[in-house]
Amino acid sequence: MKHYDVVIVGGGINGCGLLRDLALNGVKALLIDKGDYSAQTSQGSSKMLHGGIRYLENFDFGLIQEALEEKNLWLKLTPHLCFEREFYLPLYRYSKYTPWMLEAGLIIYDFLSHFQNRPHQMLSAEETMKLLPSIDSKGLKGSGKYYDGIVDDAKLSLECLYDALIEPGVDALSYHEVTSTVQITDGYEVTYENRKNKKSETVTATFVVFTTGPFTDQLLPKLQVPWTPQLVPSKGIHLWLKEGSIDVQGSVVLTTKDNRVVFVIPQRDAILVGTTETMVNEEIFNIKATAKEIDYLLKVLQESFPQSNLSEASIISTFAGVRPLAKEEGSQHSLGKVSRHHKIYRPTSHSYVMIGGKYTTFRKMTQELAHEIVPRLGLRYRPSLTLNPLRQHSIMPTFGKQPKLTIEMVKRIIKEERVTTFEDLVKRRLSLLEDPEKMTDVMGIPVQQVLALF
Ligand SMILES: Cc1cc2nc3c(=O)[nH]c(=O)nc-3n(C[C@H](O)[C@H](O)[C@H](O)COP(=O)(O)OP(=O)(O)OC[C@H]3O[C@@H](n4cnc5c(N)ncnc54)[C@H](O)[C@@H]3O)c2cc1C
Repeated sequence: MKHYDVVIVGGGINGCGLLRDLALNGVKALLIDKGDYSAQTSQGSSKMLHGGIRYLENFDFGLIQEALEEKNLWLKLTPHLCFEREFYLPLYRYSKYTPWMLEAGLIIYDFLSHFQNRPHQMLSAEETMKLLPSIDSKGLKGSGKYYDGIVDDAKLSLECLYDALIEPGVDALSYHEVTSTVQITDGYEVTYENRKNKKSETVTATFVVFTTGPFTDQLLPKLQVPWTPQLVPSKGIHLWLKEGSIDVQGSVVLTTKDNRVVFVIPQRDAILVGTTETMVNEEIFNIKATAKEIDYLLKVLQESFPQSNLSEASIISTFAGVRPLAKEEGSQHSLGKVSRHHKIYRPTSHSYVMIGGKYTTFRKMTQELAHEIVPRLGLRYRPSLTLNPLRQHSIMPTFGKQPKLTIEMVKRIIKEERVTTFEDLVKRRLSLLEDPEKMTDVMGIPVQQVLALF
């Protein structure tokens, strides 16, 4: 039976980030995911690297500072996957905050970034209308302008994975579901099933780590890992709207009358809109947006941009995810206020579980875990290794100039970037926004020609 130092269950950003950190530190590790890598929560985020301006409300300064440091780090390390952009936060007569309160918040936000953020600006109602001419002017008091990062969330996870796989003794399996973990002397036997041919295989590992995000509470009891539910799963959906469906150039942070925050972020010849925040009781693997959730976002947009004429026809595609928020003891908070701090558990001496947190802070979270695991394997932990650039980039860049796609490139992507299905290729390797089931061509190549490669 093959042996690894560590088996990681779950290949979202946390699993891929941890695999990279461990691999760079000489750990022999295997990562296993039930579907494609980064195909669940880590492709369903608002795609922002940010400190989280609204967490100022919770006085979560430590988390904001850490997240801003990480944002600025990834902007430098992976400029092909991340970029900085301006956000406008308009204030209305009904808004919870006055311009004074917003300005104080933005000063703190800039300060917490050690002034690495581009400085904020306060704008009058007239100045705001000049920059955002289509926004609702009724009751507008002005706006705050500040800067945050945008990231291709799925691709950053994938590039962390590719970087890890360069190291000897490191491997990864997608479309393999972990079905059993059995404690043995000094470790675990981990069994996983190939979801295509249904064949099972077992390996041993000194440590098993669960980075299964919102799936953790459902999965661990099935695998007989001692566990009491720790999550407050909260669903959020997004829409990709056709460019021009709203007349907006800059990114806007709408604070709704029901006290939610909705981002409107023009990027990549489209407009990203999100998100919602609702409790989930349905199956969460491959979760989809419902008609009610889509209507809610369209309604918020229509109210905020009254001259637009939005309908289902304005939508290119939708996506959804479930925030793996960690419960706080005795917390009575509404979902929006549940902490974005992560938690690490050790249910048995040879297993770890990591939940919660934000995409932006994944490197810090996985460092904390690697710091614990690497010395227990008799190796020296060097945290600075994750500051090195990623060594294998995706063949198709996300932002900037796209090379013309050829069938030879598609074959190379499938081979070199561990693609299993057509959806893996279209959504995460090519980062296309269209629904794969409705496509007639893939960047000019007839869809049948591409499908024939699978
Ligand atoms: C709507 C929304 C908006 C967000 N916006 C932002 C944002 O703008 N910025 C930010 O910093 N953060 C944001 N977040 C948070 C961020 O997306 C998550 O914190 C992060 O993606 C969680 O990653 P993960 O690796 O823990 O989970 P996941 O990405 O869900 O990975 C868990 C993996 O476990 C796998 N798995 C489950 N069961 C098994 C099994 N039996 N065997 C093998 N594998 C299994 C799944 O297939 C999955 O791929 C947002 C989240 C949501 C939902």
